[in-house]
Parts: sequence; C-alpha cells; structure tokens
Amino acid sequence: VLEAVGLHRTYGQTEVLKGVDFSVDKGQVKALLGPSGSGKSTILRLMALLEHPDSGDILLNGKQLGVTSTSDGRSRRLPERKLAVQRRDIGMVFQRFNLFAHLDVLHNVTLALTEVSGIRKAAAVDQATAMLERVGMADRLHHYPGELSGGQQQRVAIARALVLNPTVMLFDEPTSALDPELVGEVLEVMEALADSGMTMVVVTHEARFARRVADEVMLFDSGTIVEVAPPEEFFDNPQHDRTRQFLAKLH
Ligand code: ATP
Ligand code: MG
Repeated sequence: VLEAVGLHRTYGQTEVLKGVDFSVDKGQVKALLGPSGSGKSTILRLMALLEHPDSGDILLNGKQLGVTSTSDGRSRRLPERKLAVQRRDIGMVFQRFNLFAHLDVLHNVTLALTEVSGIRKAAAVDQATAMLERVGMADRLHHYPGELSGGQQQRVAIARALVLNPTVMLFDEPTSALDPELVGEVLEVMEALADSGMTMVVVTHEARFARRVADEVMLFDSGTIVEVAPPEEFFDNPQHDRTRQFLAKLH
C-alpha cells in the first residue's frame, strides 16, 4: 500500500536518511525500532507528506505522492493545497497529543471532517461520535483536552486521525510521553485497530506490543534499515550484531 523508495534526507550537514526503502502492505502492521536520532520520526514525517525528501519517492497504491510531473518530464513538488488532499489518506499520531486545547473532544474530531473533508456539521458529529466510541471516549465528548489524562488525549488523537478514513495509519511513539499506567489503554486501542485490518506503521519502544501485534519488526540505525524480520525471529534470533546490541539495551 505505502512505499518509500530510496529516501534521502539531510538536515544541514547531517544525512539523516541514507536511502531508505520501506513498504507496508494492506492490512500489515510494521513496527519500527531504533535508537534516538536514527531517523525514525523523519521517515514517518516524509511518508505523511509533512516534509519533502531530498530524493526518493513515496507511493500510495502505486501512485507517487507529493509531486507532479511537468510537461518536460521532470517532477515538481505539489502545491500545499494538493498536498493537503493527499495527506488525508495517511493518518498520523504523534508522541505529543497535539489536540486543540480550546476545543472540546468532539469538536477536535469534527473539525478534521468539516475543515479537511468538507462534510456537513451534523454528519460530522455522527461520524466523530462513532469514532470516539470506538476508542472508548464516548463519555468525554464535551471535555477539553486539559481535563483528560494523557492516555485519553492520545485516544482522541487516534480518533481524529481515523475519522478521515485513512488508507494507512502512522504512529510515532504514541505511548512514550505517557505515564506507565496509561500506556496499556492506548496500546489496546491500537491493537484493536490492527485486528480490524488497518494498515499501520508504528515507531515504538514497546517490544511486547511489537511482538504481539506486528507482522514485521524492523531496526533502524543511522538512517538505514539494519534488519527486517517477523517478530519471533527479530526478537529471538536476530541476524545482526547491531540488532542484538539494541535488544540487549531494551530489556
Ligand atoms: P527519537 O527516538 O529521539 O525520536 P528519531 O529516530 O525519531 O529519534 P529523528 O527525529 O528522525 O530521529 O531525527 C534524526 C536526526 O535528524 C537527529 O539527529 C535530529 O537532530 C535531526 N533532525 C530531525 N529533524 C530535524 C530538523 N527539522 N532540523 C534539523 N535536524 C533535524
Ligand atoms: Mg522520533
């Protein structure tokens, strides 16, 4: 479904992505592990079309995203308005639940629909309520983000991404800013989502979650992919020294 081909990204002097090839198939869940600064967030931001790669392509169902080809056969970056349309297909949940503080839960979710998809208010409320029910937040529709726990806020953030009916969901360490006792409720929502057949890419340090939910686990280091394997192999019989080192520190 979603593919990255030969992604390069440099910030200043630092080559953060050194030609990354990555793909996730329909209904597949991929867990992305790696040390801090290895480029995990960068690759998600590129795939979510939040920034452009220096080179390389992002494809969704075979269609190249973020660019358009000009009459002379070269490719040009899409204007913001067209990027916004393409972004709807790719849901993203960040480490920090960036909800709008001045809007209640329901409004945070309907806004995505009315602003981005141009859906009428009444229909938006129905869809948003159904999605908030799905993440267990139906009893908090009129609370403000500041009145919710981190886990609740993150579940609202997930509902807000889901309500746009994305083809794929990207999660960037969705539980690492949470108090330990709140991690479980968010992982449960994500696991249910995976069970429902959603295509997902999850950057996480939660090895147990990756083992249970992911179809494939990959280790990312210094802007390259070190190892990709099904969870049992990845955790129990890694092929690379670098993976063994990383796992030793994780436990
Ligand atoms: P973490 O586990 O800490 O979230 P990460 O694997 O997500 O790390 P990235 O956030 O992708 O790592 O960052 C990779 C490198 O790119 C880091 O060295 C970071 O400082 C650098 N970097 C990321 N974004 C920018 C930016 N906008 N400008 C300059 N440097 C950046
Ligand atoms: Mg990161």
